Amino acid sequence: MIVAANFKTNMTRRSTQEYMRALEAFIATGHSEDTVMVFPPATALDRWESSVIVGAQNAYATHHGAYTGEIGLEQLEEFDIRTILIGHSERRHVLGESQEEIVHKCHFYQEAGFTIVYCIGEPLEIRESGSDALMEYLEAQLEGIDLGYRNLIIAYEPVWAIGTGLTPSSDDILLIHNALKKMVQRPLLYGGSVKPNNAREIMALASVDGVLVGGASLNIDDFKSIIQATE
Ligand code: PEP
Repeated sequence: MIVAANFKTNMTRRSTQEYMRALEAFIATGHSEDTVMVFPPATALDRWESSVIVGAQNAYATHHGAYTGEIGLEQLEEFDIRTILIGHSERRHVLGESQEEIVHKCHFYQEAGFTIVYCIGEPLEIRESGSDALMEYLEAQLEGIDLGYRNLIIAYEPVWAIGTGLTPSSDDILLIHNALKKMVQRPLLYGGSVKPNNAREIMALASVDGVLVGGASLNIDDFKSIIQATE
């Protein structure tokens, strides 16, 4: 199972270091068969001797250059960061990243050999338009992405489930994951209000290869419980 924590714009360099120490100590007691990832804010990126994979929440498709406010490959390489989150709904819908920009970013970081956790997911109005509209929307978000890339991980995260406490039913997750698995034979995570109390049921679904966790990952005990739910 893959269990990934997305801190978003939360935590500091110091609190991330404390979190990483606690997480490493926990992982050392078991769970070596799981892949645990943490995406801290860019200011907390560091080089960790750890079995936990630390990734970037975002970076610009450049080695370096005149892109005020952005970080590029050079800044990630300093800390040996080899994993990146691309296409998160907040980047698409809050920060206005287009599919074209997202595809360009994917190509750039694929070229650099990164593991890409590529997020897709539909807003509520699309979900309410029926399953054909939903699958068309998700397919469009996969357009231009090299689905055969061996370091690609897909995260299905319905926008309406992110940070809301709402989740699709297990049957719905299964249905959508099964349909996605026909399009892309890569590990497929579910994300959207995963909590200690629903993680076990979600990860028990046959086509769920792991979870991407936002809010509940900020509390180390909750995140540990979610990792424990892989058992
Ligand atoms: C996310 O932002 O990727 C996410 C899944 O958030 P949350 O768990 O808070 O819904």
